[in-house]
Amino acid sequence: MTEVLAVGKPDQMSREALAGLGWTACATLDEARALPEDTRKGVKAIAFFGHSPFGGEAMDAFPALGLIANFGVGYDAIDVGAASPRNIKVTNTPDVLNDDVADLAVAMLLDFCRDTRGAEAHVRSGAWGEQGAYPLQRKVSGAKTGILGLGRIGREIADRLAAFKMEMHYHSRSEKETPGWTYHADPVALAREVDFLIVALVGGPETAGYVTREVLEALGPDGILINISRGTTVDEAALLDLLEQKKIGGAGLDVFLNEPKIDPRFRTLDNAVLQPHQASATRETRTAMGQLQRDNIAAFLKGEALLTPVN
Ligand code: NAP
Repeated sequence: MTEVLAVGKPDQMSREALAGLGWTACATLDEARALPEDTRKGVKAIAFFGHSPFGGEAMDAFPALGLIANFGVGYDAIDVGAASPRNIKVTNTPDVLNDDVADLAVAMLLDFCRDTRGAEAHVRSGAWGEQGAYPLQRKVSGAKTGILGLGRIGREIADRLAAFKMEMHYHSRSEKETPGWTYHADPVALAREVDFLIVALVGGPETAGYVTREVLEALGPDGILINISRGTTVDEAALLDLLEQKKIGGAGLDVFLNEPKIDPRFRTLDNAVLQPHQASATRETRTAMGQLQRDNIAAFLKGEALLTPVN
């Protein structure tokens, strides 16, 4: 009897860990919903990988389902509002990925400002020897940075950038205890104040388009936007327009709408660093995320308290 389904496309670390567990694996929810009724009836928990929408209708295909254990802290793909009235618990994998996601935010900022990729190409092509020094780039340390969403990951990013001697500003729904960082109740005021704006909000309908055209315009032609949250949090059409028109200085983006088939306009930009939604993608962190996901499932099957419940 199949008690646990793994749905989605686990990465290498989880594939190796899942191999010995005897769980049934389905690449998509549609594939899972097409399993024979007898199999679906026995499913108590789903280990969910990826960002495809998981709504109430799909939940109803598994009448004994009691847990959706998400691989990732961001569970915006799962309709928690549909899960709760069905007595389905949802878990995620917070904290274990904070360091990696914060590291990538800083890496994109450094990469954009110092153009390490272009400078490396200058060395490899032999241009350094033939044409001389690479053009001057932009200083990172000591700038003014704004964090939009001072949650777990936002805080890790802020701590790192404070160590770069930056003046720290932030916007959250309420003021937090900080070592003297400046709070802005209004995201537009935050963007107007800073050189770099880093988005670390949750995704989902409540934060959709939170970074409006007005926020981006306030950031201005020298301002740089870094987004490691979700593509939904930014008005992407406005971002593309303003990047193309050089009305904002640049962007470092790990997340997009319609991943992985992102808007092709991004690919032609010379003022953006683009990453394939890989902020947590180290062997160490993916191992820890998978372990936490499996620990939640094990606790659920034993009737014990969940480690990281969402609802
Ligand atoms: P968190 O601790 O819950 O922080 C989330 C932040 O979002 C908080 O600052 C919170 O504001 C804000 N927020 C939540 N609901 C909001 C609303 N309705 N309106 C305005 N602001 C709202 O989450 P986290 O662990 O830092 O993770 C943040 C997000 O990062 C995840 O949800 C995920 O989408 C993304 N992420 C991306 C990657 C990647 O690979 N790129 C990896 C991991 C996570 P308050 O401060 O006011 O509470």
